[in-house]
Amino acid sequence: MENISDSELWSRIVMFGEAARKWRQKFLGLLPEVARRELWRVHGFESVFVFAFKVGGVSKEQVERVLAIEERLRDKPVLHGMLISGEVSVNKIVRVVAVATPENEQALAGQVKLLSQQAVETLVRDMKSYEIMGKSQVRLENVSNQFSFVRVHSEESLGLNQEVVSKLQVLKQKGIDINEAFLTFLEQRDQDIQQVKENIAAEVETQTSSRYIPANVRRIIAKEYGIKCAISHCQKPSRNIHHTARYSMIRNHNPNFLAPLCRQHHEIAHAIDARVQKMKYRHIGNT
Ligand SMILES: [Zn+2]
Ligand SMILES: [Zn+2]
Repeated sequence: MENISDSELWSRIVMFGEAARKWRQKFLGLLPEVARRELWRVHGFESVFVFAFKVGGVSKEQVERVLAIEERLRDKPVLHGMLISGEVSVNKIVRVVAVATPENEQALAGQVKLLSQQAVETLVRDMKSYEIMGKSQVRLENVSNQFSFVRVHSEESLGLNQEVVSKLQVLKQKGIDINEAFLTFLEQRDQDIQQVKENIAAEVETQTSSRYIPANVRRIIAKEYGIKCAISHCQKPSRNIHHTARYSMIRNHNPNFLAPLCRQHHEIAHAIDARVQKMKYRHIGNT
């Protein structure tokens, strides 16, 4: 053992770790059926838990979890198949169980295969929050008069400093509608950004540029989206500027087709992209 190098030792243990995980996944996948047939009893084990622990080194919690998930996936054959074949980890599948339906399971299964565990988590959170937003919107419409959204955001939470506050107070004393002034300013800001983007778009449309996104494009993207992920409810810092139209097909950095995304939403964007491309351009292949 002493004569093998650090890198050899490392690659060996990583390989064994990955193999162990893969085989444990397959072991877990078969457990529900073994439990159903009570094969553990036939072979002299006290319970399915004892069997799973002694033979597979799997804890009681893990067994309970896989049995519960399998139960919930009985009406979703695609996800169910992925679980029992051990194709995808229980950790990933457990995350989509809450949002999976017989109607969406096919699409979800595709995502689960492509995405990391963290990205799957983000995807599920998105799906849940869209659902909540949909419901709460209905609720808010019914009682809209009882709410004053302006009051919800206090000056403090917006981080207004003393200078801004006193200037606003002066405006207010003059009888100027501050909300309207703000809305005008924000509208103007949007228009300015759009104008700059249109100008840049006209310039880059004819170029076949390098992969490097030019500074003026980066600047206007930063001005529009700030430092956070462009997905509206996501508060994570943006990591990548994503080309929403496929870069390899268009080959320019038109800011109208760029969006800064956090790591998880970037992964999701590419997974969706890959699926769409596969359907649309099956004959071309992906790059
Ligand atoms: Zn991207
Ligand atoms: Zn995000």
